[in-house]
Amino acid sequence: MQIQERIEFLKDEINKSNHKYYVEENPYLSDYEYDQMFAELKELEDKFPMFRTEDSPTQRVGSVSEKFFSHTHKYRLYSLDNTYNAEELRAWYERVCKEYEQELELVCELKIDGLAIALTYEQGKFVLGVTRGDGITGENITQNLKTIKAIPLKLFEDKTLEVRGEIYMPKSSFEKLNEEALANGEKVFANPRNAASGSLRQLDSSITAKRDLSMFTYTGIFENAEDKDIKTHYDGMMKLKELGFKINPNIRLVKDIQGAIDFCNEWETKRFDLDYATDGVVIKVNNIAIQKDLGFTARAPKWATAFKFPPEEVSTKLLDIELNAGKTGVITPVAVLEPVLLAGSTVARASLHNFDEIKRLDIRIGDTVLIKKAAEIIPKVIKVMDSDIHDSLPVYQAPTVCPACGSALVEREGEVGLYCANSLCPQIMCAKIEYWASKEAMDIDKVGPALIQQLYEKKFISNFVDLYKLTMQDFMQLDLVKEKSAFNIYTSIQESKNRPLNRLITALGIRHVGKETADILAGEFPSLDFLKDATLEQLANVEGVGEIIAKTIYEFFRDENNLKLIDELKELGINPQAKAKAKSDKLAGMTFVLTGTLQNMTRDEASEIIKSHGGKTSSSVSKKTSYVLAGENAGSKLDKALSLGVIILTEDDFLGMIKE
Ligand code: NAD
Repeated sequence: MQIQERIEFLKDEINKSNHKYYVEENPYLSDYEYDQMFAELKELEDKFPMFRTEDSPTQRVGSVSEKFFSHTHKYRLYSLDNTYNAEELRAWYERVCKEYEQELELVCELKIDGLAIALTYEQGKFVLGVTRGDGITGENITQNLKTIKAIPLKLFEDKTLEVRGEIYMPKSSFEKLNEEALANGEKVFANPRNAASGSLRQLDSSITAKRDLSMFTYTGIFENAEDKDIKTHYDGMMKLKELGFKINPNIRLVKDIQGAIDFCNEWETKRFDLDYATDGVVIKVNNIAIQKDLGFTARAPKWATAFKFPPEEVSTKLLDIELNAGKTGVITPVAVLEPVLLAGSTVARASLHNFDEIKRLDIRIGDTVLIKKAAEIIPKVIKVMDSDIHDSLPVYQAPTVCPACGSALVEREGEVGLYCANSLCPQIMCAKIEYWASKEAMDIDKVGPALIQQLYEKKFISNFVDLYKLTMQDFMQLDLVKEKSAFNIYTSIQESKNRPLNRLITALGIRHVGKETADILAGEFPSLDFLKDATLEQLANVEGVGEIIAKTIYEFFRDENNLKLIDELKELGINPQAKAKAKSDKLAGMTFVLTGTLQNMTRDEASEIIKSHGGKTSSSVSKKTSYVLAGENAGSKLDKALSLGVIILTEDDFLGMIKE
């Protein structure tokens, strides 16, 4: 393709995707693919400026839709240049510093993945809120913005100023909103950004009010004479905080680009602990006079740039749908993908949830699908990208028989999914043993899925109890297992005999009983025998258990096969007793929520301490929460605690409470 032709092609594609992204809110490219095309277009236009036209997307920002009254911005809103690589960040910094012959201080902020907004305050009162739109004109959505609690309607001082910030929806609220939408047969949003945008651009502001939206403010343009003393961006941010705006706590002033790169590296993984989406780091020159001197290109400031994290979402081809039977017999469909780079690693498989989801998204083998990765969670397919071939592909048909044993699949009342009901199905047995050995259960670190598969196929084991009957000689008969590793495998299995009761209950893999419920049960029943003999009523009366879970536990211990396994466990010496009762009841009746990184203990250790003093922990903040124990980089739970007036404890406060 000729250069000019390629430029025209890229311009067309980018314009089309801009419309899909900003106006229809239904992108057909992943952000990463979009950014790659944009970077290529920019590079070609820089090399061949004679082909650059004024209507090129590189010369413009965003797009305006016509749902609301339009408003011309007093100060233009720009986009940001971006890069995915540290070398380009260094090159940007060198360019900027060269003119001033000195290293310039920088401010690093998280790049919140939401919607840019400009708010005008007159004499301390919020009077106008406008979307960024194309940077020159946006939509006046003042009424809707007034429903967002993080936007102060009145400031602590009577100032006249414009601020910019990013409206976002917390990830947890986004998931809840989608769950509700799914239950009501309504449209679900592809990501928190789309959900925030869709919620904000409602013609009825009472709908916006019901959505959990928030805002981080990241710039202030001060108009009062006395504010001319604010000489740096960092000081401006601190002033905004004083005035009552919510600013992101993860902001750092650094002396040079290495400091900024360190910040980027740190947040590349830490971002997954946050309850809001961030797609990168924004790096800004701190000195405002230098910012003014550097100015802007047609699209973005020269004094700031964005470092984007490796993509969390990317599109690829769905090659096949593999079926697996899990420990409960549920058949899970897994997407087999053309390998792609996602959040720094190559991905060739992703979760498809269940067959209802495949039907709802109309996923067909051969489609191009968008996949997403979040912390430690296996990537999942979130949608099918628009394509010309989709309609010609055969509609996917859910299976009718188990892929492992060929038994007919069944549905279970009140549950999504298809199940293999054959309790001797080899795949279910292996999945149960894998779960038994997993980190959250008996934590047998030398026994992984491949080893279990081999042991099962060679008929050394048929259930998890058999693991404890194996000798070193047995292991040495396996492929690639020599004496030393046979010893290690043997020891790690034997050591697991000493795991506490809560782990043993988890490991049994009782339906609906995960780690948390197992902890509760281990707190109520002193040994497995007591749990086994509990009546349905006793089980249902345990706080946090409820009738459905009580029934599955009760039924589990009425199954002959399960009872036989438990007896065998006891004979092998696996019969832990609950830990001694609580050390004290100092924290009795109190519920704690833990957030952020603690200095002297992990969050699990802190929970253990709370429980040992009679207290309880919960994963979410509500009016019933007694205290929030907050460590460093606490996220939205801290915000929620502040808004509900829940008492916040530092680690020292907490340790003090126990000592007293
Ligand atoms: P951008 O989102 O990459 O960066 C600019 C924006 O960052 C600002 O407008 C502001 O809203 C935001 N921001 C967040 N935190 C900030 C902070 N602390 N300080 C300053 N700004 C902060 O740029 P854009 O022009 O809004 O959108 C372009 C991007 O959108 C592309 O790079 C691409 O990732 C995505 N996009 C994707 C498609 C698609 O089809 N997938 C289409 C168009 C755009």
